[in-house]
Amino acid sequence: MYTDLKRTWAEIDLSALEHNYKTLKKRVQTRFLGVVKADAYGHGAVEVSRRLQELGVDYLAVSSLDEARELRYNGIYCPILILGHTPANQVPMLIANNITQAVSSEQAARDYEQQAARLGATLKVHIKLDTGMSRLGFVCADDAFDETVAAVRRVCAMPHLDAEGVFTHFAVSDEEDEASREYTELQLRRFRKAIVAVESGGHRFRLRHCSNTGAVARWRSAWMDMVRPGLLLYGYGPYAKELGLKPVMRLKSVVGAVKHYAAGTTVSYGRLYEAERDVRIGVIPIGYADGLFRVLSNRYSVVTKDGPAPIRGRICMDMCMIDLTDLPGVGVGDEVELFGERADIDAMAEMASTIPYELTCAVSRRVLRVYLQDGEIVGRKLKMN
Ligand SMILES: *Cc1c(COP(=O)(O)O)cnc(C)c1O
Repeated sequence: MYTDLKRTWAEIDLSALEHNYKTLKKRVQTRFLGVVKADAYGHGAVEVSRRLQELGVDYLAVSSLDEARELRYNGIYCPILILGHTPANQVPMLIANNITQAVSSEQAARDYEQQAARLGATLKVHIKLDTGMSRLGFVCADDAFDETVAAVRRVCAMPHLDAEGVFTHFAVSDEEDEASREYTELQLRRFRKAIVAVESGGHRFRLRHCSNTGAVARWRSAWMDMVRPGLLLYGYGPYAKELGLKPVMRLKSVVGAVKHYAAGTTVSYGRLYEAERDVRIGVIPIGYADGLFRVLSNRYSVVTKDGPAPIRGRICMDMCMIDLTDLPGVGVGDEVELFGERADIDAMAEMASTIPYELTCAVSRRVLRVYLQDGEIVGRKLKMN
């Protein structure tokens, strides 16, 4: 659906994405997988993938077959890895679309092998090792190690599976404390040890990868054949700041109405806020149904052209109120930024007791995405049709 409605929108700065990609690529000097699951963390998987593909990204990763198909249907031809579960009866779809599947257990491998054999075709897979995340993968803790190595060797020998890669995922690579660093080291040791043990049986993995955002920023020894960041690419979190990366998304809205109230007036549901003086209140058309977390009610400040304006009272489903009493120059039609360049998403996440990942993923489908390159609009997308 085409719309140029300026109610509430998210600017996706493809120049910033390009800057982040190039900066990271220069840093790691290895192959690069861009994580574009969950609609590229809310930024738009097709648009982000298209740009990464133009920039020469080696691999993309998504969490499901539907996400992978969306990319293929929109002309993304570079290798795609599905990190999550895909039922074995979808193997024809995986093969037809040249999609790589993560394999997390011998049983799953057997099921994939059987389906691929029926087609007389080969399914490309990456073996997922569980080195301490305790989520998907072959468990690599000491007591399971030998059995895992034997099982992975059997999987690698399956004639209709091409075990191109092997990977693992860190639980605390983005934490700075000593215990976390030791844990990441332990995971890395287990990963290396398992690879050596499997490969001594004759198989060679072409792509060994484990570096999510924290490891790309902090663990040079974990970069191996390919890195696999998500958040860093989008320019959020403390490491992005350290590395000079730029936030890709800016969530914006406008002042839709301005009201004047006498001291003592209460604002919004629950009467959480009571004006302590005569106030000038702006109503902005963004609420929790757009992705503005309700927990930020009466706490967060949006940024206007003249400075910050505190949210007053409860955030509603479709709108919220801001205090413009000390910002007389801000009126109807003026832009406000929820996060982006002048309002820091990391501060917003902390105030909402969450992480920036959840905030960008939460920007909902009725929020228009406006794609920018060098400050010019190059595309727009509304996820409604
Ligand atoms: C989401 C995900 C990533 C990317 O994590 P970031 O913290 O965003 O860098 C990497 N690998 C796997 C397996 C993931 O699920």
